[in-house]
Amino acid sequence: MVTSSAQIFSRVFRLLRPRTPLPRIDLEFRAYANANAKIKLDQGLLEVRLADTLAGAPEQVMEALAEILLCKLWRRPVPESSNARYRRFLNQREVRRNLDLVRQIRGRKRVEPAQGECYDLDAIFEDLNFRYFFGLMARPVLGWSPNASRTLLGHYDPPHNAIVLSRILDRAEVPKLAVEYVLFHEMLHLRYPAEHRGARRCVHTVAFKQAEKQFERLREAKALLKAL
Ligand SMILES: [Zn+2]
Repeated sequence: MVTSSAQIFSRVFRLLRPRTPLPRIDLEFRAYANANAKIKLDQGLLEVRLADTLAGAPEQVMEALAEILLCKLWRRPVPESSNARYRRFLNQREVRRNLDLVRQIRGRKRVEPAQGECYDLDAIFEDLNFRYFFGLMARPVLGWSPNASRTLLGHYDPPHNAIVLSRILDRAEVPKLAVEYVLFHEMLHLRYPAEHRGARRCVHTVAFKQAEKQFERLREAKALLKAL
């Protein structure tokens, strides 16, 4: 008999919290670009979203992942055995290759490499990540747009998990600060996803705007962009 992933989550929930009423479980696989997972418990409903690349994971791996996610949800330490089992699974060559393939297919959009003619977005990303995000942000796909747009200097594309900067910024006469600021802004889009309030979609949330103020020399950077 094949045990469904939702059944595995309820079994692990039972083991970890024997006296808590079992919530309803809504588990879905989504087309995330990375091996990602999200969990939320709200009013008796446990919402689990897993990357579809995890759909074929063996039962023991799914069990380990359930334990990891539930421990994170309750802010309990994750048992090392579960962490190790899940990590081992992710590292298996075949799985890794499959993930790379998915990433490539999903990443097939018009983006040129992170290393431009003047600026290397990977390097700038790592520096900003270290300075403003404790080095904790997972690196998305980074690249330059093929066309040099003046109106769209950068954008974050969630389905491709990609940040694309306009080629117009990859020029010697553009100060590095301007490139850093545009990339930082897009990194904040990754960090603070758009919120939906009723029908209205709020892209620059309050938290987003607060965080943007942390950027050193913000005014100077904005002025540079105006002068482009
Ligand atoms: Zn924005």
